[in-house]
Amino acid sequence: MHTIVLGAGVVGLTTAWYLRADGHQVTVIDRNDDVASETSFANGGQLSYSYVAPLAGPGVLSKLPNWLLRRDSPVHYHPRVDLQQWRWLLQFVRACTHRQSEESTRSLLSLSFLSRDLMNELLGSEPDLSFDHANAGKLVVHRTSASFDAARRLLDYQRSLGCEQEALDAAACIAKEPALAHLAGDMSGGIFTESEDSGDCYRFCVGLMQAGRGVPFRHRRHPAAAQVRTESDRFRGGRRSRCRSRRDRNGNVQRATARNAWNSRAAISIEGI
Ligand SMILES: Cc1cc2nc3c(=O)[nH]c(=O)nc-3n(C[C@H](O)[C@H](O)[C@H](O)COP(=O)(O)OP(=O)(O)OC[C@H]3O[C@@H](n4cnc5c(N)ncnc54)[C@H](O)[C@@H]3O)c2cc1C
Repeated sequence: MHTIVLGAGVVGLTTAWYLRADGHQVTVIDRNDDVASETSFANGGQLSYSYVAPLAGPGVLSKLPNWLLRRDSPVHYHPRVDLQQWRWLLQFVRACTHRQSEESTRSLLSLSFLSRDLMNELLGSEPDLSFDHANAGKLVVHRTSASFDAARRLLDYQRSLGCEQEALDAAACIAKEPALAHLAGDMSGGIFTESEDSGDCYRFCVGLMQAGRGVPFRHRRHPAAAQVRTESDRFRGGRRSRCRSRRDRNGNVQRATARNAWNSRAAISIEGI
């Protein structure tokens, strides 16, 4: 089966990598000339397998009004006349319960442990895949006792799901990371996770393309990819989108997989690819 992956960020490229490993013919297409030119270009580089608690949690709704008024807030919301946006908002508010938060944490942790196993397997099988991978652990410090207490409660819950983390008082945090000494009087404590890694996401993506069984990549202006039209093009006045599939010699239907950060729907024509 020939699968088209739309979007050459870390999600599209890893999807393509494992589809190839599974024996499928894969082509990754992107609107940019290079892979990982958007969100995957310069992220924080953390391979954070134990920090998965969802944003939608019981304490979030009371913080939202303050967040929405701050310029440096972690959350920005631009209301639009868009049914999908309001439906998402309603789902988000409904998910801000203790039960849902624990359920999501459990699901995310099992997904995260699976990712860690796959990453370790990949590091073992592709020794030339070089992306500044490092295992230095991660220390998250808390200034107030309220936030440190909340973090410790989460640690207890996550420990019951197989997470190995330790709660450190301020002195132990400074012993672990002497650069924090200037925060001595302004820190309640921290959570240290030894098994957390880091790496350069862009270099990882480029490495996946260049590795021995590398992922074939075409940018959008490549003649063979010119047929691709997405819903967003249609809204911007481009050619009306078509979505076709056809059978290959073995009778398998060729499929198009669309995945990117900005378009919730993407219908693409795979004719000619
Ligand atoms: C500031 C910041 C820090 C972060 N830090 C971390 C971190 O430390 N650790 C971590 O795990 N995650 C982190 N993340 C999140 C992480 O970077 C993203 O989850 C990840 O990069 C998303 O990858 P993606 O492949 O889904 O999207 P992208 O990397 O955005 O890839 C989507 C691709 O689709 C392409 N595309 C979109 N529309 C079309 C179209 N119509 N036609 C063709 N191509 C199209 C785009 O060009 C793009 O290349 C961070 C994010 C941000 C913003």
